[in-house]
Amino acid sequence: MSPQRKHTLAVRVGQVTVGGGAPVVVQSMTNTDTADIASTVDQVAELAAAGSELVRVTVNTMEAAAAVPYIRDALAARGVTVPLVGDFHFNGHKLLAAHPACAEALAKYRINPGNVGRGSKRDSQFATLIELACRHDKPVRIGVNWGSLDQELVVRMMDDNARRPEPLEAAEVTREALVTSALDSAGRAVELGLPEDHIVISCKVSGVQDLIAVYGALAARTRHALHLGLTEAGMGDKGVVSSTAALAVLLQQGIGDTIRVSLTPEPGASRSREVHVAQEILQSMGLRSFAPAVVACPGCGRTTSTYFQELAQQIQAHIRASMPLWRVTYPGVEEMSVAVMGCVVNGPGESKHANIGISLPGNNERPVAPVYVDGEKSVTLKGDRIAEEFQAMVERYVMDRYGPGAGG
Ligand code: SF4
Repeated sequence: MSPQRKHTLAVRVGQVTVGGGAPVVVQSMTNTDTADIASTVDQVAELAAAGSELVRVTVNTMEAAAAVPYIRDALAARGVTVPLVGDFHFNGHKLLAAHPACAEALAKYRINPGNVGRGSKRDSQFATLIELACRHDKPVRIGVNWGSLDQELVVRMMDDNARRPEPLEAAEVTREALVTSALDSAGRAVELGLPEDHIVISCKVSGVQDLIAVYGALAARTRHALHLGLTEAGMGDKGVVSSTAALAVLLQQGIGDTIRVSLTPEPGASRSREVHVAQEILQSMGLRSFAPAVVACPGCGRTTSTYFQELAQQIQAHIRASMPLWRVTYPGVEEMSVAVMGCVVNGPGESKHANIGISLPGNNERPVAPVYVDGEKSVTLKGDRIAEEFQAMVERYVMDRYGPGAGG
């Protein structure tokens, strides 16, 4: 049973809807120099092919701002229409004013109230950004971050707290400052004329428990659509596990309209991993389906060969590589499940539950691999070409079941 989503206002970001009960949107961010048009186009296209539904790019210099419309056009020429979000800090008011074509090409602006400007300049620069968003009819994410929280606000709230008869813990005051900064900024944006349904809010922190507490408070106090993500989640397993732990708890409470998994890529690794992790979180929770699920057993002493691990990996890689085409050609294919099991103990049972599954022979079993299709035993594969033959059967199943005129 899927969790009941908290009601938020729907925000249109290009052709994508965030909030208002729409499916939770997966987004990602490039790490190329945006002024380097060719590299940025390649990476946006890669992230979009992986399934990112919004892609954010850094807009930090005049050169980067000037590049944005060319990036949008080069992507369109490749048939990539993913909405681009511009990430602005410190000088966004100047960049957007100086480059109207950039302001137009972007589908959303992300602004950080802690980095809009200092002292007397802060309010006027924030107002300029909001006026530009209104002029170009673009939504804005008010994106507060633990690492760049408005220090004047924090100092004021800490002073107020110190005067209380029973002061709160400093961490609690800081969490409240994050929420206050986001909500006050959203309120000011509305006063300046930005429609309420043009605002998305985020309050990112790097601790799992802090994130859960902050978004719980935020969701209770606003109807604005929420962008969810653990900032600076880290590398490898740590980043994946921390993001999953935090996001799963909040998504289960119905909180979150769009998510980003902020992984630090390992050297040479694909930036798309953050998209795959975000998709896996949503798919494993039953909130959305992105690609056929590969069910594979962990292996144990009953199967000492790595054959089934290799087959599971091969099928997973094949599915990932095929999804950009399958998504268009075989609607519904993302609901499919494929089982790759290591021995007779759970192999036939799990394979029967999948759309198509194979039970490979464990130690001391006959060297044959029964394949089950829609719960029924179909064929028994044997010999040296089991992997190729099973992959061909998966391909055929996809065509027959989800292809034009399949009716399934
Ligand atoms: S299906 Fe067989 S090989 Fe796989 S974990 Fe279970 S007992 Fe071990």
